[in-house]
Amino acid sequence: MTSGRDGEFTPPRYDPERLNSKTGSLPDDYYERVRRGAIDRKPILEQIVRPRTGFGFALKQGNLVRITCIEGPQVVDLNAFNMHDTREALSCARTRMVNGLHLKEGDYIWSKPPYARPMMKLVRDTVEKTGGKLHTHDLTFSQCDREYYKLLTGRGDVPSCHDNLHSAVAEYGITTDMVHDPVNLFMYTGLNEENRMYYEDPVARQGDYVEIVADMDCIIGISVCPGNSSGKIKRPIAIQLFELDGGVPAS
Ligand SMILES: [Zn+2]
Repeated sequence: MTSGRDGEFTPPRYDPERLNSKTGSLPDDYYERVRRGAIDRKPILEQIVRPRTGFGFALKQGNLVRITCIEGPQVVDLNAFNMHDTREALSCARTRMVNGLHLKEGDYIWSKPPYARPMMKLVRDTVEKTGGKLHTHDLTFSQCDREYYKLLTGRGDVPSCHDNLHSAVAEYGITTDMVHDPVNLFMYTGLNEENRMYYEDPVARQGDYVEIVADMDCIIGISVCPGNSSGKIKRPIAIQLFELDGGVPAS
């Protein structure tokens, strides 16, 4: 975008379509084949994660995680880090600058600058997102944490997504200050007339799931949110990891 000397630099207008033109390490047709189920999947791990708890795992480039609301709607906070350099972390700001305030099928999940590249891709999303239901998979709210609960209830000694996310990935050397703004899977949010954020009960149903493919080797932490955004009942979710037959395509 720089033209000639610095003094001649003309800042470009914000253009999400153009930002979205940068692709990841894996070819588009690989993702498309994964989405269609055209690549055999070998299950490598299945874990039920209880309400109000967290879980961490490694996801190698080209492999897939499916996250399922097995008993009904449940918000799941997600963090991600480059396995080989955990300073490179997911950025919700970057991700929403490219995709908007909510994730949908086909969207990349981006890392923060100075890395600023695709980390993962959402290849499948079964949550109904037609009509007024475009608001699932939030990129605007932070994780709940002790301070949040202390301010709202006077109690800080309760489970929170921040603590869950940290516990989930601590074994990979990730410290509590490295836990970052999460992708809030299945969370239903929007902006009201005063431009304030709000959430409503999720529209996801029992059996709804998302499938995410890693574009680089990732460490992922998830928290089954103890907060109010899932509705009255907190439910378990299922994590399934799959190794894809043939692994990463030759580039
Ligand atoms: Zn939470």
